Amino acid sequence: MPRQVSTITAPTPELTEAERVRILAKSALFNPPPAELPDGRRDLVGLTREELAVELAAIGEKPFRAKQLWHWIYHQGATDFTRMSSIARPLQERLAERFVVGRPSVATEQTSEDETRKWLFRFRDGQEAETVYIPDRREDRGAVCISSQVGCTLSCRFCHTGTQRLARNLGAAEIVGQFMAARDAYGEWPSPHGDVPRLLSTIVLMGMGEPLYNYENVLRAMRIAMDPEGIGLSRRRITLSTSGVVPMMDRCGAELGVNLAVSLHAVRDDLRDEIVPLNRKYPIAELIAACRRYPGASNARRITFEYIMLRGVNDSEAEARELVRLIAGIPAKVNLIPFNSWPGSDYRPSGREALERFAAIVQDAGFAAPIRMPRGQDILAACGQLRTDSRRTRPAA
Ligand code: SF4
Repeated sequence: MPRQVSTITAPTPELTEAERVRILAKSALFNPPPAELPDGRRDLVGLTREELAVELAAIGEKPFRAKQLWHWIYHQGATDFTRMSSIARPLQERLAERFVVGRPSVATEQTSEDETRKWLFRFRDGQEAETVYIPDRREDRGAVCISSQVGCTLSCRFCHTGTQRLARNLGAAEIVGQFMAARDAYGEWPSPHGDVPRLLSTIVLMGMGEPLYNYENVLRAMRIAMDPEGIGLSRRRITLSTSGVVPMMDRCGAELGVNLAVSLHAVRDDLRDEIVPLNRKYPIAELIAACRRYPGASNARRITFEYIMLRGVNDSEAEARELVRLIAGIPAKVNLIPFNSWPGSDYRPSGREALERFAAIVQDAGFAAPIRMPRGQDILAACGQLRTDSRRTRPAA
């Protein structure tokens, strides 16, 4: 069973009631569409175990059916009730009349020269979001980078997605559904358990959107992904990347406890205000303080600071030294990301020498500072390059 934590919990001391209400109200304006299909059937993906039991009770079924269905949906990956062999035919038919086990449909799919694979998934209302699988080139495993929103509100200057207005939040079914659809593509069902290697071995919430601005849906989706009787990914295999929604970082740590990645990208507020405009609301000092108190961070589970290297903007030796000073004492690693150009961007990637000098200063201070090789560049699947042509169909608030 997943950890038993109620979905709506008391605010952490750092998140004021007013702030919590404001974030939740704003998020509600961008709610995903209802889980019912036009024909009245309901999608079972995205429901908690308890909600699944309620749906089944409504048609007169006992609670153990919820456990059976959970196994078929999340362990076996079944989308067709007729495949559920432990369920008698008459019940399979009743289930099919009332429910579906949904998946996003594949609008387009591209595979890079380096085997990175990118899907544009389409959801029931026609909105679309991108998902990327980045295989490890040395071992049979890889990360699935999933989206949490269609578009984004945050407009980070280096990010292609940030040029696309927020259309809406993705629902829990759509978030976990991206991972399930990617596993369909590789035939990785039933869910591997124990020491059995997984090809799709980690989830990184680093696709389109700011996951902490769609926290309730992300929370549900990740609890489903972590459930040991289903997909069974441990919290250590999930990384949530945030631009620094400080009040929600505390909740995320307390309730999900997944690995944290922070898009830092600058060490001075004036520059970070420009590159990551959210900094105007939650400046660097507050962000770093939230990292220091993030639960579960340790040498075995370090916080990752993402730092995109922009030529002549944030890549000086002085900035590397300031970075080291800022994160001193935090169990951390720094991912140095060469900037991936996209049409219309006015930034340029740092040169090799600047990258290496910067990395050396951070490493000499005792932090791992790998230079991340861009993946999937030929299909615009690398960091900050995701973007769709989806449009908001409802008026913005
Ligand atoms: S980096 Fe992330 S938070 Fe910033 S604009 Fe891009 S998708 Fe949004």
